[in-house]
Amino acid sequence: MNSKNQFAFKKLIVPGIVMLAFWILAIVGWQSSGYIQPLILFGYIGTSLGIGLGLYAALPKKKKQVGRKLTLFLIGGALLVFMGLLQSENMQIEWVFFSILAGLGGGALTHYLIAKVFGPLLFGRLWCGWACWTLMILDLLPHPKSKGRIPGNWGWLRYVHFALSLGLVLVLWFGFDYQDHIYFNSVTGLYWMIAGNTLYYLVGISLAFILKDNRAFCKYVCPITVFLKTTCRFALLKIEGDREKCTECGTCVRMCPMDIRVMDCTRDGQRVLSTECTVCQTCVTACPNDALKLSFGFDLGGKELLREKGEVVRKKWRMNQTIYYVVVVILFVVGLGLLALPDPSSETPSRCSRSRIPACPSSSLSSPYRKLRRMGVFDFLFACQSFLISPCFSVSFSGYAANSVAVLTV
Ligand code: SF4
Ligand code: SF4
Ligand code: SF4
Repeated sequence: MNSKNQFAFKKLIVPGIVMLAFWILAIVGWQSSGYIQPLILFGYIGTSLGIGLGLYAALPKKKKQVGRKLTLFLIGGALLVFMGLLQSENMQIEWVFFSILAGLGGGALTHYLIAKVFGPLLFGRLWCGWACWTLMILDLLPHPKSKGRIPGNWGWLRYVHFALSLGLVLVLWFGFDYQDHIYFNSVTGLYWMIAGNTLYYLVGISLAFILKDNRAFCKYVCPITVFLKTTCRFALLKIEGDREKCTECGTCVRMCPMDIRVMDCTRDGQRVLSTECTVCQTCVTACPNDALKLSFGFDLGGKELLREKGEVVRKKWRMNQTIYYVVVVILFVVGLGLLALPDPSSETPSRCSRSRIPACPSSSLSSPYRKLRRMGVFDFLFACQSFLISPCFSVSFSGYAANSVAVLTV
């Protein structure tokens, strides 16, 4: 196996681990419940994630998003159409609250516990980036690139939404004797699901067009993030940057649909600890130096580090080392050349003595050259190159010296 194939194989480790985890869950659910449904459902979700993440890893950069969007449709579409519409299995947040009050287990509660409460401890907000049926549609809208968040902490709206949903459920339960409507696969549940999803799509699509940002609903309004943001803080799977490879070009920040300051995390030597990260890997694909990757580890979360609208992420200018040495050599050669030329304006031996040419054959030099020389152009150029070369050489020689010492002492 050549090194290129080995590299591709390494990239398939994370998809493999995710798929394996879901299949373990599927088998445990099947064995403990005695029903075949958990095996089919979690096996299907794990396989879809494995295929999508695997495709993402294997496909060329321009086609990587195909893997993610395919998984969004495979999982989100199946949950919405087959589980939701065809089996009347409501997985909206309000139905979860009803299920808890009614003491029901069932699909909604299981789905929330796995995808939105305990799952994020392992895989972060993988649900958001790869499986959510709301994002499945929002991702198709024409504003995938965000220009930053609205200034101010507008994320509080999601907590208001969460409180309104919970309040509505409590009022109906205790004030209007809603208990009779809450049972598995009830028609009421189906109506709630259709109404809830229609509202989410309407608000999500409107916000995307008004704010020119496909993920506006996710950033400010979605109540499910209240669960997700709490546990994904401890996620084992996160994005990790390599400080050595990063040239601080800022591309990852400009491309992140959730406005996370990925570059700052890399500079600080941290993984991406923001609870807003949906593990979509857009930053990984966008990085021109392959400085970002998915990694498993343990950290307790940290600052959100989000970019606001109007903040410009500048590309930090860094001269490539090779270009730097080429420039130094060119300046050196040009400098020597200028030194070697005679001074035509000088008729006196003292001026000519700066030249390495013994006699000063000013008469043999062309008149434009003489003119420029008299105007002081060459003196100016000589001063410039001396000014440029001296720091270049001092830096360059100290670099060589430091390298030599390091090589000799290590
Ligand atoms: S934030 Fe909400 S709408 Fe957005 S992807 Fe996550 S669960 Fe879906
Ligand atoms: S940091 Fe990277 S993986 Fe996380 S949301 Fe931004 S682009 Fe996606
Ligand atoms: S895109 Fe890559 S090189 Fe550029 S700032 Fe981000 S991590 Fe660094």
